[in-house]
Amino acid sequence: MDGQAIAWVDGVWHDDAANASVSVLDHGLLYGDGVFEGIRFYAETPFLLPAHLRRLRASARCLMIDVPMSDGELTELCTEAIARFGSSDGYLRLIVTRGRGLLGVSAHTCGRPTTILIAASLQLYPPEFYERGVDVITSSLRRSSPDSVPPQIKSLNYLTSVLAAAEARARGAHEALLLNGAGEIAECTADNVFIVRDGRVATPPVSAGGLAGITRDHVIELLRAGGIAVDERTLVGADAWTADEAFLTGTGAEVVPIASVDGRSLVAPGPLTRRAQTLFAASLPLAPAISALRA
Ligand code: PMP
Repeated sequence: MDGQAIAWVDGVWHDDAANASVSVLDHGLLYGDGVFEGIRFYAETPFLLPAHLRRLRASARCLMIDVPMSDGELTELCTEAIARFGSSDGYLRLIVTRGRGLLGVSAHTCGRPTTILIAASLQLYPPEFYERGVDVITSSLRRSSPDSVPPQIKSLNYLTSVLAAAEARARGAHEALLLNGAGEIAECTADNVFIVRDGRVATPPVSAGGLAGITRDHVIELLRAGGIAVDERTLVGADAWTADEAFLTGTGAEVVPIASVDGRSLVAPGPLTRRAQTLFAASLPLAPAISALRA
């Protein structure tokens, strides 16, 4: 099924994800009441899966949704999806919704949560974006504050990101920086953000309102292990405007250089961005034949 998407919904496989469906009474659809993860697989191996499962459970716990499968079962399901999909690299979308209930918003009418897994091919950005970088604007929308829906929950409600991405597109850019209520940089619409100044890398702390990105954590670890200083500190717009270089990280995007922020050009890719890209590429699972040689 290379090039298409397949799906599993509560125990049933669908060769074409377009034909898989959930009830119109599922609160995931009615209220965005559910959580999800986007997971890459490389060389038929789900990448950083334990971290994704941990974050899925943390998101679900915040919403008081009981994920109806164990980590072992979810891991097996991912493995089976990759085998059925038949392509060595791709993307998994794991979703757990509140489940089917009455039309009212209250979750107490819902039965068992709905579990969905989609396997698909993914090309988020064209190859030239990794060479020349993406243009980023600062969105007029703010990340939700922790006293509304905590931004740490990777929920099915992505409207801030959807609107900010539309704003970026309308302004001729590829991505948008989202600030928090205090005007500090939180993240981008589907990626975390890093800036570089004077040989030091900096990224906003998760408390600024960005998602605790798994690629973010991984890249921080790789850079530090490579002897490069990475600070988690408050960043404002001017920090991005005056950066020597900057880059985005995310499961879909991997490591993407930023070419400009609000019309201010940056070096893209700068030397530390290249280093992050190289370290990231070297950390990916190898094709089975190569792994066998290494073992
Ligand atoms: N922020 C948001 C809003 C996201 O949706 C994502 C992608 N899941 C990220 C950051 C990056 O997180 P990760 O590296 O875990 O994909």
